[in-house]
Amino acid sequence: MAGKVIDGNMLAEELSEHVHEELQQLRVSGARPGLATILVGDDHAAAAYERHVRRLAERLECEYANEHLPDDAELADVLAVIGKLNADPRITGILVLRPMPSGISEPLVYRALDPYKDVEAVHPENAGLLAQGRPRFVPSTPASCFYLLDAYLRSTDREPESFYPGTTLVVVGRSDSVGKPAASLGLQRHATVVTCHSRTNDLAAFTRQADVLIVAAGVAGLVTGDMVRDGVIAVDVGIDPIKDPETGKVRFVGDIDFESVAAKAEAITPVPGGVGPITDVWLIGNAVSAAAAALRVEPRFGFTT
Ligand code: NAP
Repeated sequence: MAGKVIDGNMLAEELSEHVHEELQQLRVSGARPGLATILVGDDHAAAAYERHVRRLAERLECEYANEHLPDDAELADVLAVIGKLNADPRITGILVLRPMPSGISEPLVYRALDPYKDVEAVHPENAGLLAQGRPRFVPSTPASCFYLLDAYLRSTDREPESFYPGTTLVVVGRSDSVGKPAASLGLQRHATVVTCHSRTNDLAAFTRQADVLIVAAGVAGLVTGDMVRDGVIAVDVGIDPIKDPETGKVRFVGDIDFESVAAKAEAITPVPGGVGPITDVWLIGNAVSAAAAALRVEPRFGFTT
C-alpha cells in the first residue's frame, strides 16, 4: 500500500486538548459553554452519535443536555424544544441530529434555531455567511476534513495557503451539512472546486481530476482505485453500515474503497479513525466558541474560521 494513512484519532486528541484548555480559560471569564443535542425518533446511527457526543462532552467537562423526542413527534414539538433551548442561557450550542422522521421539515427546524447557537451552521443566515466566505460557525464535519488536510500538508512541509490555489478539489455529495460547506471551504482556500452528486453523469470522469478528493455520499465503497489519479489526497467522510452476511454483525465502512484507492493515493483517511473523531471534538469546540462570542471574548484557537 502506497498512501500515507492520516491518523484522525491522533489529530482529534491534539484538538481536544486545545478545546479543553480554551474551556478552562473561559470559565475564568465566567462563561460556561453548554452543548445540547436534539434527537427525534430512534434512528440507530443518530442515537449512537448522541451517546458518543455525550461521552466526549463529559470528558472535556462541557455542559451537555439531550432532548429526546419520540418517533411520532410533530414539527410543533420539535420547535417547542428548540424555543426552550434558544432561551436557556446554559446552552451555547444546539445540534439537531439527523435523520429526523420524514414528516418533519428540516428547513423549518433549522430556521427556528437561534443563529448564535446554531453551531452546525444549518440556519439560512449561517449557511449564507459560510457560502459568502465569512462564517460565524464552520460545521464540524467539513471543518474536520480541512483540519486534517491542513495538518497533513504541514507535516509534509507544505503550507495550506500556497497549496490549495491551483489544485482541483472534487467533493462528492452536496448535502447542506457536509458537501456544500466542504465545497465553500475549498473555494475560500482558492482551490478549483467540482461538486458531484447522484445526478452526475460519469462520476469517475470528475473524481479522476481530483488532486484532493472529499467523498460524502453515504454509499459504501462508491469510489474505487480506478476512479482516482495517482497521488490523490483522499478524504473519506462516509460512515456506512455493512452487515456481515455470516455473523449478522454490523460494521462501518467508508464511501471510498480503502485498499484500491490507498494503493494509488499520496494520503488517505481511514474509516473508522479518520474524519469522524475530529468532527466530534470540533462540535464541542464550536459550542465553546459560541460561549466566547457571547462574552465578547476572542476564541484563541479559531474554531470559527
Ligand atoms: P446525505 O445528506 O444523504 O447526502 C449524500 C449526498 O451524496 C447527496 O448530495 C447525494 O446526491 C450524494 N450521492 C448519493 N449517492 C451518490 C452517488 N452514487 N454518486 C454521487 N453522489 C451521490 O448524507 P450526508 O449527511 O452528507 O452524509 C454523507 C456520509 O457521511 C454518510 O455516510 C454519513 O454517515 C457520513 N457522515 C460522516 C460524518 C463524520 O463525522 N465522519 C458526519 C456526517 C455524515 P443528491 O443530492 O443528488 O441526492
